Amino acid sequence: MAADHQDFAISPIMFVAGTRPEAIKLAPLILDLQVRGAQPLVVATGQHRDMFDETLAGFGLQADRDLGVMAPSPGGQVGQLLPVLADVIRCERPAWVVVQGDTSSAVAGALAARYAGAALAHVEAGLRTGTHDPHPEEMHRKLVAQMADLHFAPTAAAAAALRAEGITGGIHITGNSGIDALLLMQARLAGDAALAQTAAAALAGIPRGRPWVLATIHRRENRGRALAGILDALAELATEAEIILPVHPGPAIRGPVLARLGGRAGVHLLPPLPYASFVALMLQSALVLTDSGGVQEESPAIGLPCLVLRDGTERPEGVASGNAQLVGCETAAVVAAARAVLRDGALWARMARPALPYGNGSAAAAINRELLRPTGKSSAQSPENWLRSAVHHR
Ligand code: UDP
Repeated sequence: MAADHQDFAISPIMFVAGTRPEAIKLAPLILDLQVRGAQPLVVATGQHRDMFDETLAGFGLQADRDLGVMAPSPGGQVGQLLPVLADVIRCERPAWVVVQGDTSSAVAGALAARYAGAALAHVEAGLRTGTHDPHPEEMHRKLVAQMADLHFAPTAAAAAALRAEGITGGIHITGNSGIDALLLMQARLAGDAALAQTAAAALAGIPRGRPWVLATIHRRENRGRALAGILDALAELATEAEIILPVHPGPAIRGPVLARLGGRAGVHLLPPLPYASFVALMLQSALVLTDSGGVQEESPAIGLPCLVLRDGTERPEGVASGNAQLVGCETAAVVAAARAVLRDGALWARMARPALPYGNGSAAAAINRELLRPTGKSSAQSPENWLRSAVHHR
């Protein structure tokens, strides 16, 4: 360990990220590195600036560098970030550049690391739908996989998907660090009365007499007709449950949601919730309807039945464990599936059986062990190579 400390005192481990789920899933790694005396360096791209900063702050963390690049399209985001990130990487000379998932920030971080000659690690590697959708996320995941030295696959299926694409080295099955974050937040909510009170305050005023049905919608592919179908379903379900929808701030979601559900009895439109409040909300809900990747992973761990508002998923493990069902976005199908779970106690109990198909909370430690392993580094970022590439780029 002493050797690791010495090594990483001069070479930070750089996290490049910009969205809420990246903040949630990288926070456990950053906290664990701090405990180990290593040097995490968080570079915020600016993709979803406010939600990223607020979510990190919920873990007592903040970004070390804020690039403030916020572009209206994924391509624009990657294009603008690339030269800025490559400069930061050359300047900081990290031991590793770490990216998470499939965002524009992740693909920009990966490309910049490669152009700058740095070693690259990918957290949550190997998720695949096997189709072109969701776009551009599926493309981003595949691109990052082609560039990374280390691939932290959350599940055996994700590792198999990487091997099927010809990646043979550097694959580690670690579980998903999102589960670490969830268990950490659950423990904090249980042990910190002030935090629990603040989290509960965000939910004040929602009546307790009927079941709580949580909904989250944000995916690009669910805009338009699909979104209209989901919103009609929520309006119908509000006759028998409290529908609680933290509304994603993007105008393509927010506009139609307010127009269709604003002011409707039994529907509670909330702002995006701090992670602690969202976890508290999941713990109190009877059912979740979601197109979110992170929520699909979290719900089995909590024992919250999950209806996935998509036709396919890169997270089939929750369906296999019986905690989730794929229901698509058609109004009648969503309403029928939700009613079945709410009205059939035996079905609800089966789907509410807690399970950990995405990891048991030890992902951060497993990932950091690899990142801190001196021999685990690729030759691309040996000090000699760094010096050479740094000199070359001046
Ligand atoms: N989440 C949150 N507040 C909210 C809604 C979601 O903290 O109001 C958390 C949720 O617990 C999960 C993550 O955000 O960990 C999911 O983010 P999102 O659905 O935006 O992205 P995805 O997971 O689909 O990439």
